[in-house]
Amino acid sequence: MTSTVPTAIQHTDAQPPITMFGPDFPYAYDDFLAHPAGLGQIPATEHGAEVAVIGGGLSGIVAAYELMKMGLKPVVYEADQIGGRLRTVGFDGPEAEGLTAEMGAMRFPPSSTALQHYIDLVGLKTRPFPNPLAEATPSTVVDLKGESHYAETVDDLPQVYRDVAKAWADCLEEGADFSDMNRALRERDVPRIREIWAKLVEKLDNQTFYGFLCESEAFKSFRHREIFGQVGFGTGGWDTDFPNSILEILRVVYTEADDHHRGIVGGSQQLPLRLWEREPQKITHWPLGTSLASLHDNRAPKPAVTRLHRTAGNRVTVTDANGDIRTYRAVIFTAQSWMLLSKIECDDSLFPIDHWTAMERTHYMESSKLFVPVDRPFWLDKDEETGRDVMSMTLTDRMTRGTYLLDDGPDKPAVICLSYTWCDDSLKWLPLSANERMEVMLDSLGKIYPKVDIRKHIIGNPVTVSWENEPYFMGAFKANLPGHYRYQRRLFTHFMQDRLPEDKRGIFLAGDDISWTAGWAEGAVTTALNAVWGVMHHFGGETDPTNPGPGDLYDEIAPVELPED
Ligand SMILES: Cc1cc2nc3c(=O)[nH]c(=O)nc-3n(C[C@H](O)[C@H](O)[C@H](O)COP(=O)(O)OP(=O)(O)OC[C@H]3O[C@@H](n4cnc5c(N)ncnc54)[C@H](O)[C@@H]3O)c2cc1C
Repeated sequence: MTSTVPTAIQHTDAQPPITMFGPDFPYAYDDFLAHPAGLGQIPATEHGAEVAVIGGGLSGIVAAYELMKMGLKPVVYEADQIGGRLRTVGFDGPEAEGLTAEMGAMRFPPSSTALQHYIDLVGLKTRPFPNPLAEATPSTVVDLKGESHYAETVDDLPQVYRDVAKAWADCLEEGADFSDMNRALRERDVPRIREIWAKLVEKLDNQTFYGFLCESEAFKSFRHREIFGQVGFGTGGWDTDFPNSILEILRVVYTEADDHHRGIVGGSQQLPLRLWEREPQKITHWPLGTSLASLHDNRAPKPAVTRLHRTAGNRVTVTDANGDIRTYRAVIFTAQSWMLLSKIECDDSLFPIDHWTAMERTHYMESSKLFVPVDRPFWLDKDEETGRDVMSMTLTDRMTRGTYLLDDGPDKPAVICLSYTWCDDSLKWLPLSANERMEVMLDSLGKIYPKVDIRKHIIGNPVTVSWENEPYFMGAFKANLPGHYRYQRRLFTHFMQDRLPEDKRGIFLAGDDISWTAGWAEGAVTTALNAVWGVMHHFGGETDPTNPGPGDLYDEIAPVELPED
């Protein structure tokens, strides 16, 4: 319950660390990034050639940064702000100065090793994130069906919660070879990973998360499935994921993406912002002191792309919101795929029809969050009667679902994420204003903590987001439904363009939508690196033989292919 990884099979220090190495495409992006030979070279005749990078989120900025280092000239287009779904905002008023709220990504697993490479590169620090029942969390309250339980560790919860945790461990072992796969991932045993995963993909692509639970002996009890859905594991209730493909959930649990989370001190948006300004020490073609910022007019990206079409010589022509028209030999597209169906006017000829189908079928999770600034971390005050914290990190079946308490020390203003929700639970907030949302949330929490007056500690206006309502996003992150494996595979492998008809090459998909682990920033980074390899190859470049790239090893590790008929 405290963690995604069932306690019975949690790792010991003697084992190699778990990373997001596969299972679909077991390529060591972390080793690739750490290698002194770098990510590859392009012929000198191509130095300075422009490449359009659409989207200034993490994926676009990583891709642009690496292409710049290779001597190409990335031209970044961004409709909203650099950072995309790494969006850190402040609060109004001097009292709340310095406080921040993470509207998108807020917690990162140590298994995100490619992401960590860039966090370290720009000198950002991380610290443990206060998830339910995590070590860094002073206390957690689980409130279900009107009954609250206070816990500092999982052992403080009633037996039924431990039964549910055991059911989950047994169910994963029984239906998904959990410990075998976890071990193979740790050992980077590619043949073993592929052997286990090939069977599971075939067996489970049609299965929902909920169907997987129902079919397991361990989860025969409806009551157990209900508790599991409401309080879940790791980051909280996962019932909003129940309709998704079980393969999506397995990718997360095998790689411990939902565990041991850390937050970025000062906010995650600093990562793409710092990369934008960073002047790499090792750079081809450009003088030292060059940065992405310095390659752009006014040190700012170009505005939103409004039109994409193919022109003679297999070029891709990009029109932006200022009416500027520019033609490129290579374009990387990192925004959410639905943008290509609505906000951007596109030629059908940009992609093969099967790729268009895959983009049209993309399924997004909705997600809403609301944060308020408070005068101090009052939740650590002790209840006189019980001696317990007066308020705790809270998981509930009420409207708020997950409440997170975020402080920087006892005597400083602090922040409460009153509610973080997904899917139907997020849609329930959609028509409400920030203040209306806050009132409903405070009422819900008031029922759990009748003695605590949260309102009297609030020092500023709430900040809120519903990602499904954001014009340049239209959803929080992709989540494949049953039967989507083939679509996912088409999109992920799109960077291997030698396999595409010649008139369909030159535009590369990257970003969260293309990743096998959408909703985790690691996938935004690794798909960016695939696209970088694809662009390098497109320009006639190659990697150093001692550091083969994802495309060089593709045939050995290509994702399992399911038949179309
Ligand atoms: C609510 C939420 C919680 C999350 N939690 C976590 C977490 O805890 N841990 C974790 O690892 N990950 C988390 N993620 C996922 C993580 O935020 C993403 O994987 C990552 O930020 C995606 O980066 P990206 O560059 O692929 O896409 P984006 O960040 O979406 O970047 C795409 C960019 O394209 C821009 N754009 C759109 N249309 C156009 C256009 N027409 N022209 C030009 N630009 C355009 C957008 O403005 C955007 O900036 C979360 C995401 C959300 C939404």
